[in-house]
Amino acid sequence: MAAQLIDGNALSQLIRTQAGERVLQLQARGVKPGLAVVLVGDNPASQVYVRNKVKACEQVGIHSVMEKYDASLSQAELLARVEALNQDKHIHGILVQLPLPAHIDAQKVIEAIAPEKDVDGFHVASAGALMTGLPGYWPCTPHGCMKMLEHIGYNLRGKHAVVIGRSNIVGKPMAMMLLAQNATVTVCHSATTDLKHHTLQADVIVAAVGKRNILTADMVKPGAVVLDVGMNRDDDGKLCGDVDFEGVRQVASHITPVPGGVGPMTITMLLVNTLASAEQTLHA
Ligand code: NAP
Repeated sequence: MAAQLIDGNALSQLIRTQAGERVLQLQARGVKPGLAVVLVGDNPASQVYVRNKVKACEQVGIHSVMEKYDASLSQAELLARVEALNQDKHIHGILVQLPLPAHIDAQKVIEAIAPEKDVDGFHVASAGALMTGLPGYWPCTPHGCMKMLEHIGYNLRGKHAVVIGRSNIVGKPMAMMLLAQNATVTVCHSATTDLKHHTLQADVIVAAVGKRNILTADMVKPGAVVLDVGMNRDDDGKLCGDVDFEGVRQVASHITPVPGGVGPMTITMLLVNTLASAEQTLHA
């Protein structure tokens, strides 16, 4: 039987409706949640991402400030902008869209964001909090994957999860989140010698590589849950994931499509993190 689809658009809509209610509750207590999105340069993909983030904020009633700068902006000028946003009481989340122009040290800029406004969850303080189980903002994409597992009522305790990819923004935090839910976690990467050996043992597979068809049906245990984070283009230029969707859906119990899977969840979790930051100010 073909796998059940985990519909990221539908789940996002549900969470965004709840987010809208949280916005109203915050406003009733005098707090208007605000997100600042900073874009440097004219990378076309970044422009689309940023536009989508601003649109999603508007949809749920989060005040968004979009700061666009020419690619020639200096690192010092960008750091000064980040510092001004750190001090801005109307801004609860700061997102600097990556990648940044080559003359700017992205890590330095991320570290300049106040951890309590680091709604992307990329600051070392956020990474450390996730690693040690302390409160902090979780990176949005793996956080969205966890929400999808929660949504289908999946209990990770004692299950074997295989994460393919070990980037700081997806693979590594994903592994930490799965571990925190008592899964046994294997992380695979470009130097993994026999990927199929690992994936065939997995109850849950998260593919976060950026290569089409990295996961095919013969690599998946019947009944496994497959989350596809990858974003690639097929030969016709259509958006596709890392997973051979048509093949794997015949073997898996649940699978996320691309588009319409993990992608919409990423922006949704950004909204959730921004709201959590705004709510924190009530307790400050
Ligand atoms: P990344 O930084 O390029 O990391 C890719 C990872 O894949 C690396 O850890 C790399 O291993 C590993 N890898 C490469 N070839 C491999 C192979 N043959 N077998 C096993 N592992 C291999 O990418 P990323 O930022 O994590 O993003 C991954 C994908 O997710 C991309 O397609 C990206 O566009 C997509 N993405 C989607 C969303 C969303 O919202 N849906 C958000 C973020 C990213 P090494 O570490 O050894 O190099």
